Amino acid sequence: RPRSSLIDDEEGGVLFVSASASSSGFGYSTLERQRQRLPVFKYRTAILYLVENHATTIIVGETGSGKTTQIPQFLKEAGWAEGGRIIACTQPRRLAVQSVSARVAEEMGVKLGEEVGYTIRFEDVTNPGVTMIKFLTDGVLLREMMDDPLLTKYSVIMVDEAHERSISTDILLGLLKKIQRRRPELRLIISSATIEARSMSNFFHDRKRNQGDAANDSAPNTVPAILSVEGKGFTVEIYYLEEPCSSYLQAAVDTVLSIHDKEPVGDILVFLTGQDDIDAAVQLINENAQDHRSHSSGLLVLPLYSGLSRSDQDLIFAPTPKGKRKVVISTNIAETSLTLDGVVYVVDSGFSKQRFYNPITDIENLVVAPISKASARQRAGRAGRVRPGKCFRLYTEEYFMKEMSAEAIPEMQRSNLVGSVIQLKSLGIDNILGFDWPASPPPESMVRALEVLYSLGVLDEDAKLTSPTGFQVAEIPLDPMISKMILSANTYECTEEIIIIAAVLSMQSIWVSARGVQKEFDEAKLRFAAAEGDHVTYLNVYKGFIQSGKSSQWCYKNYINYHAMKKVVDIREQLSKLLKRFGMSLKSCERDTQKLRKAIVAGFFANSCHLEAYSQNGMYKTIRHSQEVFIHPSSVLFRVNPKWVIYHSLVSTDKHYMRNVMAIDPDWLIEAAPHFYQHKRPNLSAPF
Ligand code: ADP
Ligand code: MG
Repeated sequence: RPRSSLIDDEEGGVLFVSASASSSGFGYSTLERQRQRLPVFKYRTAILYLVENHATTIIVGETGSGKTTQIPQFLKEAGWAEGGRIIACTQPRRLAVQSVSARVAEEMGVKLGEEVGYTIRFEDVTNPGVTMIKFLTDGVLLREMMDDPLLTKYSVIMVDEAHERSISTDILLGLLKKIQRRRPELRLIISSATIEARSMSNFFHDRKRNQGDAANDSAPNTVPAILSVEGKGFTVEIYYLEEPCSSYLQAAVDTVLSIHDKEPVGDILVFLTGQDDIDAAVQLINENAQDHRSHSSGLLVLPLYSGLSRSDQDLIFAPTPKGKRKVVISTNIAETSLTLDGVVYVVDSGFSKQRFYNPITDIENLVVAPISKASARQRAGRAGRVRPGKCFRLYTEEYFMKEMSAEAIPEMQRSNLVGSVIQLKSLGIDNILGFDWPASPPPESMVRALEVLYSLGVLDEDAKLTSPTGFQVAEIPLDPMISKMILSANTYECTEEIIIIAAVLSMQSIWVSARGVQKEFDEAKLRFAAAEGDHVTYLNVYKGFIQSGKSSQWCYKNYINYHAMKKVVDIREQLSKLLKRFGMSLKSCERDTQKLRKAIVAGFFANSCHLEAYSQNGMYKTIRHSQEVFIHPSSVLFRVNPKWVIYHSLVSTDKHYMRNVMAIDPDWLIEAAPHFYQHKRPNLSAPF
């Protein structure tokens, strides 16, 4: 029986991790004591000395050692925020930005948004002139460079979680290196849990500049400093499955219940992949706990993924109630970005959602894929924070040894580069292939991106941003295809509707996933479903939400995510302001959805597909590369199968599924992008 063998297996290896003891407490003085107990506290003087004297400081330290929450405070205490200057700390993830800034504000005893603030896309919680420490996503800092190319308001920029190698982090590192040459007074801190510190140091070691500055005493040393923060170590015992499991979701649920049954107190952290499987696991554990009376008391099961409301986030960090065992089921956000104290058991599915891009087919999708060995070690380490812990890996040891790669591939090398190229272009970096990347992107991906941007009318023949379209697309903080769709809506006179659709498409989902009540869920969806597809359906949902007086009750009844809808209203508002800035007024197409659909096609023509005539199972092929794709079950067009569709994104499990699908007339494709589809024209008239 896999469940018991998992727990009783004595063969597991032993892993040593650094960790720090920490206890939960209340009030300012205990917070202060907690701060002093963190491993970075002992390095305070060293860190400040290095930052003072080196242009770049690389800091490596285990997750939970206090890098993110403490170092910005040290810098502030040492005067780096005086004279109106700001200390910035970037994170790849929005949820982490919100969470750590809230924590730092609490530790400093100030209101979030004053001395300590944060900025994420569409949400600026800072107070200019007052904010001294600012947390922001790496993407937002890149955007700030459009207005302030040298980032002059910052005295120190801490690029955190650098080991994640997010696409924006990599671009940022390349640009910061350029900025440093123009602003010798700027200090950089590159921090992370595990990093190839040497290669990062080589990247920032500007040999030419150092010679030039040798005579100048006041200039900082341009040889990067490296500091490693050591923490106290607790052992984590690793357990593997004896046999591979067929469903990691079920295995995770079984393992949690088994730990709860057999192991002493201590919270459990489970790594799954995304909202869908996390919500499912929460529900399965709760149901199971109800079936077995013995389980029913002890467990407090909480999901953790991006898009959670503030109050749900707070629950994650709240101390576990007496007599309870907290079970947090998380995406890989809890791998290094957030640290939950009190975790003693980790359950690792071995998977995460990862972006993959194929430049040949120009298909980018989110795939549930195996994590790297480095990630698996990080996940296991989460169990050793307060005392020795246990990590249950839902895969075999052989699989770990033989199948898992050592490190993850930088996102840059597995992403569609359309967004990155346009960002660099808008910052005046024309020779993109010659740009100093920490990891070079594949040239084919570059070529594809240039091709798409050219067909969108964003770049001209010389690969320069077009005016005004190119510059406006760059300015809208959304995927360039969505931005183009919004701008086209001005021509088709449907901006009023399109900004609502754009806002919804920038959410993960506005539906509440409903396991076990599929029938009710489908019926609720039918109330809004439009024959044109998901985009027009979203307009109906939005209208209903507004008519209900933005009621949470109404959302609950209709299986709609209230939190997401509030965000949609907010984003819509900001997009409408942006359009006003471009001198465009809001116009409604009333009931003429054809105008609306043409505007959408103007942005998404590259994602067009047609239904295979002989297909019994709803198989489509993409027009450009004849890739087999299917309509996702969550779409209102699932089983409707119109002949021609465009999609917003692809997700892959066993097959490629299109999410957010709309029926189109193929003539619109040629209207939207003649040059793009010219050589495909014969296909477009295929008899259906
Ligand atoms: P690192 O960046 O080195 O991984 P952090 O600075 O994020 O470490 O965390 C230091 C400590 O602060 C940890 O013990 C963590 O649990 C605690 N902490 C961080 N954010 C919060 C929060 N929002 N609520 C409560 N504790 C937090
Ligand atoms: Mg951190």
